[in-house]
Amino acid sequence: MPSAQAILQTVFGYEQFRPGQAQVIQQVLNHQNTLAVMPTGGGKSLCYQIPALLNEGVTLVVSPLLALMKDQVDALRQNGIPAAAINSTIPKEEVNPILRQAYEGKLKLLYVTPERLAMEFFQYQLTFLPIDLIAIDEAHCISQWGHDFRPAYRQLQAAIEKLPTHPTVLALTATATPPVRQDIGEQLAIPAANFVITSFTRDNLAFKVVHPPVPDRQYIVQYLQAHAGEAGIIYANTRKKVESLAEYLQDQGFDVAAYHAGMAPEDRAAVQDAFLADQLPLIVATNAFGMGIDKSNVRFVLHATSAENLESYYQEAGRAGRDGLPSEAVMLYHPNDLQQYRWFLDQSDADEAYREVQYAKLQAVTSYANTPQCLQQNLVAYFGQECPPCGRCSNCLDEREVEDVTAVARVLIAVVDELHGRFGKALVAQIATGSTNQRVREVEGDQLPHYNQLTDYSQAQANRLIDYLVATGYLMLEGGQFPVVKVTPTGRAVLHGQVTVQRRVEPRPVKKAAAVP
Ligand code: ADP
Ligand code: ZN
Repeated sequence: MPSAQAILQTVFGYEQFRPGQAQVIQQVLNHQNTLAVMPTGGGKSLCYQIPALLNEGVTLVVSPLLALMKDQVDALRQNGIPAAAINSTIPKEEVNPILRQAYEGKLKLLYVTPERLAMEFFQYQLTFLPIDLIAIDEAHCISQWGHDFRPAYRQLQAAIEKLPTHPTVLALTATATPPVRQDIGEQLAIPAANFVITSFTRDNLAFKVVHPPVPDRQYIVQYLQAHAGEAGIIYANTRKKVESLAEYLQDQGFDVAAYHAGMAPEDRAAVQDAFLADQLPLIVATNAFGMGIDKSNVRFVLHATSAENLESYYQEAGRAGRDGLPSEAVMLYHPNDLQQYRWFLDQSDADEAYREVQYAKLQAVTSYANTPQCLQQNLVAYFGQECPPCGRCSNCLDEREVEDVTAVARVLIAVVDELHGRFGKALVAQIATGSTNQRVREVEGDQLPHYNQLTDYSQAQANRLIDYLVATGYLMLEGGQFPVVKVTPTGRAVLHGQVTVQRRVEPRPVKKAAAVP
């Protein structure tokens, strides 16, 4: 029997394994249930495709992404590997012949959607197949703690248990925080000792956060001028914003096209193909763009609107620099975007537990945008890993002076304390800056000892400092829909004069765009 290494070279044409691949393949071939956590583009597919070729029977691949399924099946077939997919796009009369092929041992890989696998009759049909491995792609969808929970994933384990061949289970994901990993492990019977987690650090990516009040469009134009000739993706969070930004940039003379799910499929395909073929350098897109896109020379990913959670952000940003060459991931931070996401969540009919999780995710984005810590460190810490400061991100390279804001921070923390942690940050900012509005009077905020102690500060400045104090752990937010601000033990130490608060000096408001850093 050929070795995994030989198949890597002869069938797939690659010289060596990427980090984690060999270990995952080894474990799977030893019939150990395994969870593989690898960054996007890390090469997860080979982790089940190679065992599929070495095993006798058929490998069942569960994937929620129809387009990805089709791409993989086409690519495998071109490589001479018998593979097929069963999903809603496959005509009914083709299903039985495919199952027959698998039954006769003529198929190596069978791709199915989680919804199909949840169907009882389909489960019955599967009991006749020689399934030795079941690979579950996008495994974070199984967890409520993930950013993309799908109910059908909850039924996977029951379906797996009905298979008489007791196949090995391989779960794969690019985005699993520690609670999500644990959840995947528990639900799919994968012991923690069998988790293979490769490094999330991206040594060739420089992360940047750009704060208001930089005028976005001017910033983007200058950025694109400074990066002329490079391929890049600009993400915005609505179709409307994508279209208007793309039009604006076209008017400014840039070779750019829009991409979003509201466009006709053939237009989308044309834009995507041109981008992949290096005929179109720039794309302005919603998050509909990028899933399964394998373009190695993307030099920058610029988020014109703040991302909704760090999982999506890291995945989208990670599309830059897959070839290993220096690349950038820039986020234009707008507190308002996050407020809007929060509002959508408030209006949604999602259950309370789900909302709590999403609120916490929004808070993690706020922290990322405000932290003085290395941005790469902040991101990998979110995914449960550690790394040294990168020396490339906008925080590592920030040479602005550090100012001591202890006195001001103390006022804000004192107000939070005087309100006994019962109110939100807007009210704290209003009280500290001496607002006389009705709400302040209602709660008798104007009677508090620290009312109006920040006379030099605008409410917006006070708000930003509160965000900073939350991001750096002096204050914390609690509760979903209308979060209240509370004092943490570190914050209390500030009140007692035991700890100081340092911050980079705030950039001055700019009327014209500042030079692009
Ligand atoms: P993921 O699913 O983790 O995002 P893929 O499985 O789609 O990543 O792999 C990303 C790209 O890397 C694909 O083009 C794949 O062929 C390639 N690739 C995977 N493993 C290797 C390897 N060992 N050496 C070189 N290229 C690889
Ligand atoms: Zn850094």
